[in-house]
Amino acid sequence: MIIVISKRWLLLAAAACCIAFLGSTAFLESQIAKPVFSASEAAALTVVLDPGHGGEDGGAVSPDGVEESGLNLEIALRLQELLRFSGVKTQMTRIADVSIHQEEARTIQEKKASDLRQRVEIVNGIPGAMLLSIHQNSLPSSVVTYGAQAFWNQQAGAERLAVSIQDALNQAINTHRAKEAKPIASTIYLMRQITAPGVLVECGFLSNPEETLRLQQAGHQCRLAVAITAGFFKGLSEGNES
Ligand SMILES: [Zn+2]
Repeated sequence: MIIVISKRWLLLAAAACCIAFLGSTAFLESQIAKPVFSASEAAALTVVLDPGHGGEDGGAVSPDGVEESGLNLEIALRLQELLRFSGVKTQMTRIADVSIHQEEARTIQEKKASDLRQRVEIVNGIPGAMLLSIHQNSLPSSVVTYGAQAFWNQQAGAERLAVSIQDALNQAINTHRAKEAKPIASTIYLMRQITAPGVLVECGFLSNPEETLRLQQAGHQCRLAVAITAGFFKGLSEGNES
């Protein structure tokens, strides 16, 4: 049995994510392939959705005080809706503005380290997992810099998914300035420690006031979620063809 991700199906998913968002239709039309993965593959896969930071660790902060952690959660929850609607199992690393550290952690540094270890345990404890980690960027030295960028970890299959997600993001989000998917820096603990393929998406720049406004809008968050979902499915299907 083959699950067909039809244009109509993902359009319905987009509607479920955000009924007001209509700009994705032309984009999806160009993205969605025919059969993309078998039912057994879909059943075996769990996408771990990881909204970066949380609790005392707000992550990057815009000049007017918008914290990365809240945007990460909102976008990850939209992704969860889309992926579940498409029949993919998901697991969130957090579903509220919290750090998931263990009780014995006391200092902020200990809590952050414990939180990251817990996230690694979640991913590595799920057979057939893949990680989608959602973050926001910041580059105060260049406030005009904007756009979404995907990074892959060293596990097999991650690069293909990141490149495909980047391609979708370039069409839907980075319309005037394409970005290139890149390998993640080895200093990023979660991406280095997991044994599953991982893609980290920096959805936009909180150092850019205009993009910070967009990132808070439901329509833009939906556009990001739809692009990441479409790129994910396309990357998966390309893997099956090779
Ligand atoms: Zn971050």
